[in-house]
Amino acid sequence: MDLSAEIIAIGSELLTPQFKDTNSLYLTEELNAIGIPVVMKTVVGDDERYLEHAIRGSLERTPILITMGGLGPTEDDVTRKVIARVLQRQLVLNDEILAKLQRRFKARGVEMPANNARQALVLTGSDILENNHGTAPGLWVAAGKNHVILLPGPPSELRPMFEKSCLPRLREMAGSIALARCVFRTACLPESTLDARIAPIYTKYKNPETTILAKPGQVDIRLTARGKNREEAERLLKELGDQIDQELEEYIFARTEQSLEEIVGLFLVMKNATIATAESCTGGLIAERLTSVPGSSRYFLSGIICYSNESKMELAGIPPLLLEMQGAVSPEVARGLAEGIRARAGTTIGVGVTGIAGPGGGSEAKPVGTVHIAVATPLGTEHRQSFFPGDREKIRWWASQVALDMVRRELMKM
Ligand code: AMP
Ligand code: MG
Repeated sequence: MDLSAEIIAIGSELLTPQFKDTNSLYLTEELNAIGIPVVMKTVVGDDERYLEHAIRGSLERTPILITMGGLGPTEDDVTRKVIARVLQRQLVLNDEILAKLQRRFKARGVEMPANNARQALVLTGSDILENNHGTAPGLWVAAGKNHVILLPGPPSELRPMFEKSCLPRLREMAGSIALARCVFRTACLPESTLDARIAPIYTKYKNPETTILAKPGQVDIRLTARGKNREEAERLLKELGDQIDQELEEYIFARTEQSLEEIVGLFLVMKNATIATAESCTGGLIAERLTSVPGSSRYFLSGIICYSNESKMELAGIPPLLLEMQGAVSPEVARGLAEGIRARAGTTIGVGVTGIAGPGGGSEAKPVGTVHIAVATPLGTEHRQSFFPGDREKIRWWASQVALDMVRRELMKM
């Protein structure tokens, strides 16, 4: 039940900004599908010392180690050599591989460079993983509790080799372990508040495993359950998931990897509703987020950025006297913007935002971070005053997040 894997991606090019280690994403997906979690990934250059360090660490921690890369014919390809040293095995020339390499070159009408003979070196007591798409064979070394799998770096060679020669054996080792996952995405609940509410629940469980990822205005809770089979994993997942669901209720905006704006879009379509926005301090961010969703033309009709007082009057119909008496950053102006844009655009929903994003412009009565958000619907107008912490960018993002979440909550009532 405790099988887990580590991945070491080897290649100095992978430490430059130009190359990505994409192989490990593929391997992780395949391993997860047969119930083997990946517990650690390392990227290391073609450097014997660092590679040895990474390998020794992995062998102490984790039963399965998959390395990829560094099996080439050149001096800088050191994987075989380092693994042999760490596992105290000999490297011996394998005649069969050598003959196959020679045949490969001969078929192309070229003499095999002496360097390539290195690729016929295998660790004593290892299993050879045939490479039908390149020259470097892979190796599987079983050493005590450890399984070390050496794969070539090029994805076109690694993938078929892994599928053909590794997956069946790993599947057998894993027995019938299955993984099941789910996610809860929450909006506008600070991470500490959220954790205080759900930690008493999820800390009771080692399985499913719970991870919490916070971004501004959003916290994602991910559960991963392991079971003997899919049904068991799903059952464990549901047991904990239901409790989290009950605790957080309407703070959860998605049980999928969808964004808040996508969910708002789904609701708008479902309710056959349309929306328009009048934004001051968010400068169009709410409209940007809403329209980033494909198909948003079905419900998003118009968005204005009314930064100046004049534009608030002209574009959203805010009465000059109101601006003068209440100031641009006020509940009344937020409501006026929401109702004004709703009336002018002829939409089901109007959103109005006005606030002080800073760093300048704050006062004692209205400090930086003060934001008024209003959502006008056929049921009336909801207003919320917030004080967002952080810099200009964070304040604007939080404001857009709260606005979208208010829209979502209003749509749920409709
Ligand atoms: P190697 O001969 O093993 O050093 O591998 C060389 C080729 O495989 C290069 O084209 C690399 O960019 C590619 N490669 C190596 N490792 C990875 C990796 N982890 N993900 C994607 N490509 C890789
Ligand atoms: Mg390399």
